[in-house]
Amino acid sequence: MSQYIYHCQDCNKEFTHQHHMADAGKVEVACPHCGSKLVHQLVAAFSAVTPKKS
Ligand SMILES: [Zn+2]
Repeated sequence: MSQYIYHCQDCNKEFTHQHHMADAGKVEVACPHCGSKLVHQLVAAFSAVTPKKS
């Protein structure tokens, strides 16, 4: 499972969405803020990144 960052062109907000890499480009991602599907992917961040606080 990878986490992707999307930007909504309708409300100009960014949000993250998780889906399998195999589904990249196939899944329909809708903005959680306004429900628009006019979103585009900014970067893909692997969920293996686990910030640790010491
Ligand atoms: Zn939106």
